Amino acid sequence: MRPAGEKSRRSASRPAPRPPCVSVANASRRRWKNSAGNSLPEIREDPLSGRLSLVAPERGRRPHDFQPLPETAETGPCPFCPGNEHLTPPELLRLTGPEGDWSVRVVPNKFAALVPGKADPPPSDLFVVLPGVGRHEVIIETPEHERALAELSPSQVLRVLEAFRQRKEAFQAEGWRYGLFFKNHGARAGASRRHSHSQVLALPFLPPLLKREFARLEEFRHRKGRCLFCEMVEKERREPRKILESENFLAAAAFAPRQPLETWILHKAHGRPFDTLEERELLEFAEVLLHLLRALNRIVPNLPYNFFLHLEPLKGPFPEDFHWHLELVPALTRVAGFEWGAEAYIVPVAPEEAAAWLREA
Ligand SMILES: [Zn+2]
Ligand SMILES: [Zn+2]
Ligand SMILES: [Zn+2]
Repeated sequence: MRPAGEKSRRSASRPAPRPPCVSVANASRRRWKNSAGNSLPEIREDPLSGRLSLVAPERGRRPHDFQPLPETAETGPCPFCPGNEHLTPPELLRLTGPEGDWSVRVVPNKFAALVPGKADPPPSDLFVVLPGVGRHEVIIETPEHERALAELSPSQVLRVLEAFRQRKEAFQAEGWRYGLFFKNHGARAGASRRHSHSQVLALPFLPPLLKREFARLEEFRHRKGRCLFCEMVEKERREPRKILESENFLAAAAFAPRQPLETWILHKAHGRPFDTLEERELLEFAEVLLHLLRALNRIVPNLPYNFFLHLEPLKGPFPEDFHWHLELVPALTRVAGFEWGAEAYIVPVAPEEAAAWLREA
């Protein structure tokens, strides 16, 4: 119990806490609702590590949903196939292909982890909770149900990248802080549908991993007076981890991987954000990505993998040194106790050896 006098002394010396974002301790659960009256997801920050969780019970999971699923758990018609467009929420973007039909569609995710709305700045409290606002969308990469991304033509992958770029622009106009484009391929990597697609989350915050990358870039600049990325590109092109190099891109096995065969594609040019790339450069990136995916598939047929693009933030502050890049993480070994506990990874293949396999594949 606090002495009676302390409360009034504290309230006299401190401003009253701001009302919209409140701590878990003094709030009933699920306090934000959208205009339709539905509860919003929550963005929670772990007080110890700064790690974030998107708590989204609207995704409707129940205990029986957590039973291990067989590879093909899909039922009913595929909502991503042509002719079934009415099975997805209204589309946000459609790119047409050479035959005039759609070649790429972007639709809201039916089971969104974040929903549109406005976020208030977080209060400085122990248990930080933000309303789970943002966007969660699905990019349907091809009209063809059976074709994986690795089997698409470079010009089709270019259209997928073009869709990324157009959505990024839209998120920027809406004032979101960061847009994270990612792909899950294969049930083991978290894909719930076979029909090739990627996803994007427009976020009201900078993801902790990006925060860390930016902080290390800044620290390196401060210490060495140079760009860490430029240095990395310069070094990796002479290292045995190099897989292939094109005019603008370098693909290399990750120096400290989280999974066997983890590979990164780095954009070599300094100060060239994703948005400023010319079509021929995007096509070049598509070709490098396809080359890599096909090489990976020759080593492990239909490799389950995740990739994500680390692009520039949608709004400032912007990092001084940053090269956008893609990190491709295969889903081959299980993330287990040590990995959870240490945020360090036990990997059974040396990246230098993995790079040799990929160069020869
Ligand atoms: Zn389909
Ligand atoms: Zn640089
Ligand atoms: Zn990164």
